[in-house]
Amino acid sequence: MPVLFLGHGNPMNALEDNADSRFWRDLARQLPRPRAILAISAHWETRGIAVTAAARPQTIHDFHGFPASLAAFQYPAPGEPELAARIAGMLAPEPVALDTAWGLDHGAWSLLAHLYPAADIPVVQLGLDLGRDPAGHYHLARRLRPLRNEGVLVLASGNVVHDLRRMDWRQPDLEFDWARRFSDRVRDRLGAGDHGALIDYSDLTAEANQAVPTPEHFLPLLYAAALANEGEAPRFFNDRIEYGSIGMLSLGYGLGDPA
Ligand code: ZN
Repeated sequence: MPVLFLGHGNPMNALEDNADSRFWRDLARQLPRPRAILAISAHWETRGIAVTAAARPQTIHDFHGFPASLAAFQYPAPGEPELAARIAGMLAPEPVALDTAWGLDHGAWSLLAHLYPAADIPVVQLGLDLGRDPAGHYHLARRLRPLRNEGVLVLASGNVVHDLRRMDWRQPDLEFDWARRFSDRVRDRLGAGDHGALIDYSDLTAEANQAVPTPEHFLPLLYAAALANEGEAPRFFNDRIEYGSIGMLSLGYGLGDPA
């Protein structure tokens, strides 16, 4: 199965027909149909490793200040407790909590709503363990590689550049120069297979700490990179900066040549 890292951007993308949502719908049509999905979202940070293990995961509305239509949105995909247990087994002897309280957060469902609108493929989420440094996340992710041969689509969801303080809601097409420089540098290192440089992302550009003020939206990218097979080159998509400081650069491994 392929591996995806998708920039999710504005939660309203879940409901809108726009360039991002159309890109996600087109992308899913190019993929083999997965048996199940493992989502790794910027919006679930955990103490220790956790995977969702509810048979019927709830749709979590983990934001404020958006319209009622978004707060009412439901993505009723089933969970798959067996997959959660399988992941815990793969990561052993690391302790893995099988979590039945969390469900699907908007990092996952704002994308899945367009990728798989029928919500008929089981979805499990893996949390971002707050106790781990970037190298720790990368090496943990590498152990999940066998899932690619088990019909599981790994969907990592974040944003390469994510600075909400400097973003300008009125200017969707704005690209700050420092944001573009950081995004281009990430793309360059991914293309070269230089994952060490991505683990040390705070050294990528002089303004890296501005592009990644907190790690949670960047870390899912490390999971996707870690799941690449030897010599497997990424395909890049959606190479845009929105609102000045939200990087939408997305990629996939295992997608074959461009159609
Ligand atoms: Zn987000």
